[in-house]
Amino acid sequence: MKKTLLPAQSQFTPDFIGTKFISIAIGTFLIFNFSLLIGGSAQSIPINIGTQNPSMPVGGYTICGTMENLEMLKQQDPRLEARMAAIEEQTQEYIKNNPQKTQGVVVKIPTVVHVVYANATQNISDTYIKQQIDVLNKDFRKLNADWNQTPSVWTSLVADCEIEFCLATKDPSGAATTGIKHTSTTVASFSPTTDKVKYTAQGGDDIWNRDKYFNLWVCNLGSSGLLGYALFPGVAAAIDGVVIDYRSLPGPPTYAPPYDLGRVATHEIGHWFNLKHINGNTTCGDDLVTDTPTQDKLHQSATSGSTGPPTGCFTVPYHVNACSGSTNGEMTMNYMDYTDNKCMFMFTAGQKARMLAALNGTRAGLLTSAAANCAGVTGIYELSLSDHISIYPNPSTGEVSIATLSTINSMDLKVYNAIGEVVVTKKINVPASGETKINLSSNPDGIYLFQVKTSEGTITKKIVINR
Ligand SMILES: [Zn+2]
Repeated sequence: MKKTLLPAQSQFTPDFIGTKFISIAIGTFLIFNFSLLIGGSAQSIPINIGTQNPSMPVGGYTICGTMENLEMLKQQDPRLEARMAAIEEQTQEYIKNNPQKTQGVVVKIPTVVHVVYANATQNISDTYIKQQIDVLNKDFRKLNADWNQTPSVWTSLVADCEIEFCLATKDPSGAATTGIKHTSTTVASFSPTTDKVKYTAQGGDDIWNRDKYFNLWVCNLGSSGLLGYALFPGVAAAIDGVVIDYRSLPGPPTYAPPYDLGRVATHEIGHWFNLKHINGNTTCGDDLVTDTPTQDKLHQSATSGSTGPPTGCFTVPYHVNACSGSTNGEMTMNYMDYTDNKCMFMFTAGQKARMLAALNGTRAGLLTSAAANCAGVTGIYELSLSDHISIYPNPSTGEVSIATLSTINSMDLKVYNAIGEVVVTKKINVPASGETKINLSSNPDGIYLFQVKTSEGTITKKIVINR
């Protein structure tokens, strides 16, 4: 049978942030006009963004600066390529010798999160750092509820990667730690080009020994829309970790929809464990994984800067595979694609094999580190609904904010006064900012009960109004 081959679609290469020029037309909506250097020639893709979202970086999202960063590092470090080639050899050897694609044990990775902040908004609370770790532990253990949305043709490939992350309980000197370091900085925003966030002397926070800890930096990556970057195995010890923008974490009040469910970190940590992008970073390229389909490009919805659906996820199967002609389409739901956070929900067994190769190769120090640095930590931070909904300030002078995670789309609010009378009844469709304000300034001072009912349950919080 003759295979149907679609013409290769225009290659959107968001890693190259330096090549993006933006013009903004202001009307009832914003039109972002991306001029992208594609294969040396400029191509304009007008993108209609229906409403202005104040938390959305101007110009949409760059998603991931990992490959751009790697090219720069190769220039600076002439031996990096040779080291990476040796690691690739070890990787292939490990995969060949471990065809079962399991190590039969879950490995806990001691993790330190460096929160480097220039203002209070960037100083992400420990609650939401734990929520981020929780997302990782679900995604890497196939405990994420949405993995079963994987098309049936690929469900058998979805992997429990047998990797968990725990916030370190001991720092490099052996002292007790929460595994979260908050460091204030005068640096307004950080960039992968200079990588200052990894150096205390440059306004960041020094790495903890990469052979004993996974280092995750959370900081402001500026307004270019860059949400994160990672380093592949083989790079210098001082920089060997993952950096994500503070807006990509799963928690209010700092949203960056549609990349705010914590899966920017999942994607970047995939790189840190030696995974390439699903298209091998070029049209129909090789990601060195045997069970992922060859793919012509990385996919983004139009709101985030490409030519996909205006919002949301790609239909499945997403067209006839432009490289192979397979009617199974493309694996847009893989964490190593660029789809919206809610549209990606799986690593394959082949990707897992590469990650285990890294864990048993260059990253093997972590295998023995957990006992010392994760003592007493389960690794799973299952948060209650009350951690997903913040009602503040308390006490308040009248205006009360309700902030939610973006997994919550609507709420039924009832506010009771001290004698049990309902003073507010409101159905709230949670706005993109995730924050709703309730004004009680016409009510007398006193204690009020806020009852918030959501699809995930109901919580009640006591708020004092005191002017
Ligand atoms: Zn990436």
